[in-house]
Amino acid sequence: MPDKRRQTTDIADLEKQVHGMLAALGEDPGREGLLDTPARTARSLSFLTRGYEGQLEDIVNGALFTSANDEMVILKDIEMFSLCEHHMLPFFGRAHIGYLPDGKVIGVSKLARIVDLYAHRLQIQEQLTQQVAQAIQEVTGARGVGVIIEARHLCMMMRGVQKQNSRMKTSMMLGLFRSNASTRAEFLSALQS
Ligand code: ZN
Repeated sequence: MPDKRRQTTDIADLEKQVHGMLAALGEDPGREGLLDTPARTARSLSFLTRGYEGQLEDIVNGALFTSANDEMVILKDIEMFSLCEHHMLPFFGRAHIGYLPDGKVIGVSKLARIVDLYAHRLQIQEQLTQQVAQAIQEVTGARGVGVIIEARHLCMMMRGVQKQNSRMKTSMMLGLFRSNASTRAEFLSALQS
């Protein structure tokens, strides 16, 4: 899967840009409360986009196990925080993952780390959902994968239409989760409980 590793963040340049943003907003970047804001914001943005520096192989490394289990594995309610690439504002919620192993299972905490790998970037929710599903498919060789993400978008809550209670739900179904209605139904009903 194409997975671009970025160069290290240019923190000094980022600080300069944040300083410029504050000035462009009509603020005084020299006033006491804002003095350290460029440095803090630069570090914060670098941290929030650290997913660019991760690699799927490093995460999975050593956590793939041979298993005779061919029943569905489900991990639900994985907390997720990301930044929308349109406004660089947070969207956050929960991811639910299911897969049907084909001789290999992955350590359960790795599923959550795969979500973080792709969430900690500038994203759109649809693409995040797809990347997580494809990554799990790729590393486990599962017979099927289902990923559902439910999230609230601050760019919609704080600005634009200002709808406070809407949640966006996206799903990606691969393999048997796509082609077999009963597999998909088993996954969806497990998420209800
Ligand atoms: Zn947005």
